[in-house]
Amino acid sequence: MKLRIGIDLGGTKTEGIVMDAGGQILVRERRPTPQAAGYDAILANIHELVRDLERRANAPCRVGLGTPGAISTRTGCLKNSNTVCLNGRPVKQDLEKLLAREIRIANDANCFALSEALDGAGQGHGVVFGVILGTGVGGGIVFHDRLHEGLQHIAGEWGHNILEPDGPPCYCGKRGCVETLLSGPGLARDFAAYGGDAKLDARAVVERAARGDAPAEAAMQRWLERFGRALSVVVNILDPDAVVLGGGLSNIARLYTEGRQRLAHYIFNDELRTALLPHRHGDSSGVRGAAQLWPAGD
Ligand SMILES: [Zn+2]
Repeated sequence: MKLRIGIDLGGTKTEGIVMDAGGQILVRERRPTPQAAGYDAILANIHELVRDLERRANAPCRVGLGTPGAISTRTGCLKNSNTVCLNGRPVKQDLEKLLAREIRIANDANCFALSEALDGAGQGHGVVFGVILGTGVGGGIVFHDRLHEGLQHIAGEWGHNILEPDGPPCYCGKRGCVETLLSGPGLARDFAAYGGDAKLDARAVVERAARGDAPAEAAMQRWLERFGRALSVVVNILDPDAVVLGGGLSNIARLYTEGRQRLAHYIFNDELRTALLPHRHGDSSGVRGAAQLWPAGD
């Protein structure tokens, strides 16, 4: 089978593509995720999407699925997904039954990392750490074009490293996780905690700082400092060739200058040679990476 289907299962939308062996997207389709209708409806929706994509591609395809959360090594069920009705359910087995074939499934941040490492911004770099900076903070590790998921499928989950033990509570049950401080909502909350307007979201704080607003600029300084400190832990362990940033906050240009300087300051070396790069495939990284869970060709 030369063609691969990638499915990006999000909380609000389910996107599918058909990708050829050269990485070109032949067909793309997007539909709402019937989250309120529950587990069976979400799986039936994926089943229909795959049937439609195969009909339009006029060929049988391999299927890869990217989703928030991870498959538990112990139970084979999905865990940690923000689409909570999927948690504790054997998503992979049930989809394989529906689709009558083996599928591959991975965390959405891992799909992002794989896509950017194979033919995105990280292409040609040996070890790539892919970072999602958005409403959540995640990550994935690719060694020489191979996704490293880890024994417990948590490799790259730096978003739940504890950065500040007295920091804000996290949904994972701990306090001061990287995600609570570096995510978009984390930046907005920090701005509000220092007396800023609690109605402003991260984008508005960034814009205010760019216009010279002092409290917004102070929040940005704290955010960039935390970015450098949090990422330095990853760089000290992994020493990657490239770090590729994706997600809504990854287009903040200061990350690649001031954020990089903070990172360089905190790592255990007198210089930072690691490339710090914005993503190439944008919103398509996740769905591309899902297709690329299967090798090209064959
Ligand atoms: Zn956490």
